[in-house]
Amino acid sequence: TEACLKAIEGAGALNAFVHHTPEIALERAAAADLRLKAGDAPAMCGLPIGIKDLFCTKGVPSQAASRILEGFKPEYESTVSQNLADAGAVMLGKLNMDEFAMGSSNETSAYGNAINPWRREGADTPLTPGGSSGGSAAAVAADLCLAATGTDTGGSIRQPAAFTGTVGIKPTYGRCSRWGIVAFASSLDQAGPMTKNVRDAAIMLEAMCSYDAKDSTSADIPVPNFEAALTGDIRGKKIGIPKEYQMDGMPAEIEKLWADGAAMLKDAGAEIVDISLPHTKYALPAYYVIAPAEASSNLARYDGVRYGHRAKIDAGDGITEMYEKTRAEGFGPEVQRRVMVGTYVLSAGFYDAYYNRARRVRTLIKKDFDDVFAAGVDCILTPATPSAAFGLGEMTDADPIKMYLNDIFTVTVNLAGLPGIAVPTGTDAQGLPLGLQLIGRPWEEADLLSSAYALE
Ligand code: GLN
Repeated sequence: TEACLKAIEGAGALNAFVHHTPEIALERAAAADLRLKAGDAPAMCGLPIGIKDLFCTKGVPSQAASRILEGFKPEYESTVSQNLADAGAVMLGKLNMDEFAMGSSNETSAYGNAINPWRREGADTPLTPGGSSGGSAAAVAADLCLAATGTDTGGSIRQPAAFTGTVGIKPTYGRCSRWGIVAFASSLDQAGPMTKNVRDAAIMLEAMCSYDAKDSTSADIPVPNFEAALTGDIRGKKIGIPKEYQMDGMPAEIEKLWADGAAMLKDAGAEIVDISLPHTKYALPAYYVIAPAEASSNLARYDGVRYGHRAKIDAGDGITEMYEKTRAEGFGPEVQRRVMVGTYVLSAGFYDAYYNRARRVRTLIKKDFDDVFAAGVDCILTPATPSAAFGLGEMTDADPIKMYLNDIFTVTVNLAGLPGIAVPTGTDAQGLPLGLQLIGRPWEEADLLSSAYALE
């Protein structure tokens, strides 16, 4: 813990941690020490971790990297961060992210960008660590903590993991309680660990998962010993390669990474089969209707009355002006865009044409996966991202769609509620990490982790 606190102090330029909690860390580390000495050490006893700013942490600023939550210190702890504390983990502080987890580059954060510790060979251009869990990925990659929490609504754990050479798993929807995690799109949001390797991911995921009556979508299903699944033996497993993920203009290095990954699994005894997920091409448009729709409704609660920031109002202003000014000042441009898109697709005249249609498409996407799994496929192998980490500003000056295209391989997994993991398996021509994604059957994280372990 002390070594991490020191490393964090020296790594201010990465802007990974946005709130430091050294007192809490040292207190929990001392308590962990006593438990270790007493021979009563839980799974993560004394392990220093970072917590994404989206998680409510009692008495500690929890702002979802938004101005609108300025000064908000929750009275309660999220179930997931409480589970981690109960497992002995030591919280070092809160981690940077895209505002309300909307983004793929950490550039929408009210705290400014977190920076990727990786650099292109021979170049100094600062790169994004990805997003929205960019601070978590940067902190783990730069050894500022042993692991971190992330959340994933459309790829926000897996894409930053791929951009930083770390491992990130989004479990099945319902595995981790969403209670106390600031909501973005409630039917898609899941928490998960970001770690240095697959074994750490297995250990931390197990500590994070639990049934929680306070989240109505939490699943009352036993949590297996995930670490025990890492036997290295994947003989006889069927791994599917979906042809629809073979996008036009895919960089040769991503194609090679994907082929190498398949070869590696085959060498380990798995059977590689071609599969089809025919509705894949509708996933991004469906996601970018459903996620903003849910966000616009979830973000209605930030009104300047109940939490955080309240705008100064002029004499004669009423409550409507107070709401408007607070929301105009408190939300950044990307969040405002999503609220507007979401409100539009939910409005009376357009609800059927957009929101309901997107929900029907979502059902078809889920059915594609159901069919493939019913045919005996255990896991699906795809690239995690269409490229390596990009430079700051490279995607933001164009239209927002360019940034949304980054989520092409990850959003299907959230729409279908499935577990997905990103594993670093190679580098691009400039030495930057690249990752592959494995997608598993619902509730089969153990199986998914075991295949990921073989790929690592
Ligand atoms: N990049 C996606 C978005 O902006 C995913 C975000 C996430 O998973 N939280 O919506």
